[in-house]
Amino acid sequence: MVVQARLAPEIETELECSMSDSQVVNAAKSEALELLYADAAGIGICIECWAIHYGGVEPDAANYRCEVCGLLGVWGLEEALIAGFLD
Ligand SMILES: [Zn+2]
Repeated sequence: MVVQARLAPEIETELECSMSDSQVVNAAKSEALELLYADAAGIGICIECWAIHYGGVEPDAANYRCEVCGLLGVWGLEEALIAGFLD
């Protein structure tokens, strides 16, 4: 799956212009996958700001409120993987 497909055109442009943003995203995805394969419980990831949320996130959570960016972008790791956000 292509993660960029979900992004609005203006956001996609911002990501292309900023190397650090894509590095943040890749680092967050790598960490999320490591946690997932380590069977860490209660971990979620925000697909809006790519903050990792440690604890209290259900595996099948989707579109929960992110305490970091305030958007409804928090997914449980398993659900995020199934949805293709961690590819
Ligand atoms: Zn967030």
